[in-house]
Amino acid sequence: MNDTSEKSRPLAAVIGGGPAGLMAAERLASTAEVHVFDAMPSFGRKFLLAGKSGLNITHGEDFETFLARFGAAREMLEPVLRSFTPSDIREWAAALGIETFEGSSGRIFPVMMKTSPLLRAWLRRLGERGVTFHTRHKWQGWTDEGALSFMRPEGDTTIVADVTILALGGASWPRLGADGSWPALLTAVGVTVTPFRPANCGFDVSWSSHLKERFAGAPVKSVTLSCAGERVKGDFVVTRTGIEGSAVYALSVPLRDAIERDGTAPLMLDLKPDIDMERLTTALSAPRGKNSLANHLRKKAGIDGVKAALLHEVSDKAAFNDPAQLARAIKYLPLTLERARPLAEAISTAGGISLDELDANFMLRKCEGIFAAGEMLDWEAPTGGYLLSACLATGRAAGDGAACWLTHS
Ligand SMILES: Cc1cc2nc3c(=O)[nH]c(=O)nc-3n(C[C@H](O)[C@H](O)[C@H](O)COP(=O)(O)OP(=O)(O)OC[C@H]3O[C@@H](n4cnc5c(N)ncnc54)[C@H](O)[C@@H]3O)c2cc1C
Repeated sequence: MNDTSEKSRPLAAVIGGGPAGLMAAERLASTAEVHVFDAMPSFGRKFLLAGKSGLNITHGEDFETFLARFGAAREMLEPVLRSFTPSDIREWAAALGIETFEGSSGRIFPVMMKTSPLLRAWLRRLGERGVTFHTRHKWQGWTDEGALSFMRPEGDTTIVADVTILALGGASWPRLGADGSWPALLTAVGVTVTPFRPANCGFDVSWSSHLKERFAGAPVKSVTLSCAGERVKGDFVVTRTGIEGSAVYALSVPLRDAIERDGTAPLMLDLKPDIDMERLTTALSAPRGKNSLANHLRKKAGIDGVKAALLHEVSDKAAFNDPAQLARAIKYLPLTLERARPLAEAISTAGGISLDELDANFMLRKCEGIFAAGEMLDWEAPTGGYLLSACLATGRAAGDGAACWLTHS
């Protein structure tokens, strides 16, 4: 592979065998001899983990709402998301033999829920299209002559590529391969990389030992969470260290930003979002009779288990003797979040290659012939299939951009 003098087709190196890299390889396969390199012993490990509790591959909501999920990165991502829409993703998966369905929340999943059948079919099809795979090749930058340098168990090697796609992922779950060790390789050649920050992450709360011991792992269902004017209805989970789960992830940007700015973040819970305060106060004002307070709360307000524990954890004792105060505590229960959970535990990362460093084809402006895609770029989005949608769409754009660059250079 080091000798490129006899090749009839240009050699494309795709570094990183996650969804972004594999999609880039797929798009390049008709133009170049494609080699995919990954540091790990197998491909797509984080992609596989994403399917552990249901692979949410994209989202079926109205497309304008979908685009708005990408916040500040929308401007850069919109053209590529329009070129590879959620419907296109479903068709692409179907062509691999993977049927998908739209859940009641609009989230789209493979019928079998898992990643493994899709990944297997995808790798097989890439192999049939001539893509060559190299595992246990950890990229460590360029040699002085511009060759790609890899560390392997059997010894270092170099490869001269005509075009390179970097798809090295972010920095969460480092044991699955994306260990966030690449920024120094790019800053060394003048590329601006924004420091990584956790996204879609849990947060620490100082729980009492009672709450920790009795309720760690308990789901808190159908509540509303709000922070900095943003409101989310959904579920979360109490953990030994604090809170996590989809409704928390959806607010992780304002919560993380508040902690960075103020040291802590206020999170307001509404434990009964479907009942207004007046009706709740009236219900709680009914005579208790022989009922214990716990029974009264359960019968009149539907509050028990972990919700009752949260109420006791946070509220003043006096509130329990006054129906109006109790209703207010149920509707406005304040939690103080102290820290975001570490980057390694997050679902995804913010930060990475600054989007200003890329041209419209996802080529690094400062490095001719080097393209980048996926979570290693500085964008973030909530959970709900948006992460994979953008990884696939940017991988596709970088692959097409590289093919076009090879054809015209
Ligand atoms: C628990 C969990 C659940 C998730 N669920 C979902 C979900 O349901 N829906 C969704 O949209 N998203 C989900 N995600 C996020 C999604 O998995 C990622 O956004 C996506 O995998 C990123 O794709 P990528 O190709 O950019 O990077 P990755 O998938 O991280 O792939 C990067 C690859 O690069 C390799 N690599 C890194 N450094 C080097 C190097 N120096 N040399 C060679 N190879 C290297 C890594 O080994 C890895 O294989 C989930 C994530 C987690 C952690």
